Amino acid sequence: MIVAIVGRPNVGKSTLFNRLTESKQAIVDETSGVTRDRLYGKAEWTGKEFSVIDTGGYIRNSDDIFEEEIRKQVDIAMDEAGLILFVVDVVNGITDLDEAVAEILRKSNKKVLLVANKVDNNARILDSNVFYKFGLGDPICISSINGSGTGELLDKIVEYIGDEKPEEELDIPKYTVVGRPNVGKSSLINALIGEERNIVTPISGTTRDSIYTRYNKFDHDFYLVDTAGIRKKGKVTENLEFYSVLRSIRSLEKADVCLLLIDATQGMESQDLNIIKLIQKNKKGLVILVNKWDLIEKETNTSKEYTEAIKKKIAPFIDVPIIFTSVINKQRIHKVLEEAKTVYENRKRKITTAKLNDVMLEAIETYSPPSVKGKFVKIKYVTQLNTFYPSFAFFCNLPQYIREPYKRYLENKLRENFDFTGCPIQIYMRKK
Ligand code: GDP
Ligand code: GDP
Repeated sequence: MIVAIVGRPNVGKSTLFNRLTESKQAIVDETSGVTRDRLYGKAEWTGKEFSVIDTGGYIRNSDDIFEEEIRKQVDIAMDEAGLILFVVDVVNGITDLDEAVAEILRKSNKKVLLVANKVDNNARILDSNVFYKFGLGDPICISSINGSGTGELLDKIVEYIGDEKPEEELDIPKYTVVGRPNVGKSSLINALIGEERNIVTPISGTTRDSIYTRYNKFDHDFYLVDTAGIRKKGKVTENLEFYSVLRSIRSLEKADVCLLLIDATQGMESQDLNIIKLIQKNKKGLVILVNKWDLIEKETNTSKEYTEAIKKKIAPFIDVPIIFTSVINKQRIHKVLEEAKTVYENRKRKITTAKLNDVMLEAIETYSPPSVKGKFVKIKYVTQLNTFYPSFAFFCNLPQYIREPYKRYLENKLRENFDFTGCPIQIYMRKK
């Protein structure tokens, strides 16, 4: 589920975003350091995970913002997010822009939590009473800076998302088609679905904003997560990027495996790489389709060279199937489904602790973690965690001393010995 933070500039949206995502980021996010990460992150509270998006990050010139622009932002957030955090500032009180945002939110039927920020001390709790005027329920008093009240806020958030079904429990693979505009997503979906829409049943009890359709095609049984059908074209103008990021997150959150299309005539671009980051953050499976392959003039090694060029860009996550398709000619559609199924199986793969330790302790013996400040770093054993995606805990005397390159070594060894093609792998170092 997507939780969107909205509000006028300077109320503390990005500070709140950091606070909600920080612990999570520090533990699991190995791809941080990119601007996009300030706007989109994962948060976790009492074992429930959700996406957080800071809408403010997408507004240019945020110091002198037009009301119109913020309206659009809130509008899109309302369409795409499951829950809205409307942040206001107890120090500055209510401004016209706050009123404008409140009005839009009141008219929607989206769940809104009213967050009174900058309540750094008890005296300011009283000041938050002015916000009752919005008619959006009780203000939740927090201080994003010192963290007070954020626990209560998180409780309210997970209480709300608690109703969402854990959809991953289904035994049939769920795929989603992602990619930039015009790469051929609709054409692929048409090719997969064909003329007769061989629909069995949608998953019962799914939330209103996701469309799953079950197909039984080419000897494959799968759900397609389809969000394209609910696009509201009119709203998308200058906020295109914000919009498409939200849309991608929403569709891939619901899927097991993402089929990412890129345009062969354009190659792998930064927007494509951003989508791959989203996929990695959400720990979903990935198959890359280099589409419109019919438009490329080919020589003997063209596809091989193309594959190498892509791998260079997506490194270090290069253990991914790459398929050259022409979806309008229905070329390699079957292969796409086969690879997607394999990635789905890989993502569920569980390795026994005995086998895992056999292989990994030997690898660790061969190349031990470098000692730090004269201290010996020793990994004692490893176990696979019981998650929907491949994740491993390495038990160690000094987990904080294991650096990124060594984790990458461990990941490579896992990939060499067990088939996790197409799946991001999470590696956690734990204190023995
Ligand atoms: P945004 O524009 O809504 O994303 O706001 P920022 O997160 O950039 O915060 C704007 C200013 O308010 C910054 O100077 C923050 O340090 C400050 N700020 C944010 N949260 C708090 C808070 O809880 N208490 C106080 N006193 N200041 C805060
Ligand atoms: P979407 O915006 O990602 O859904 O892209 P569409 O499926 O609407 O395709 C965009 C354009 O690319 C359309 O004109 C398609 O006919 C064309 N197209 C899609 N797939 C292929 C392909 O494999 N080869 C060629 N030559 N054109 C394609």
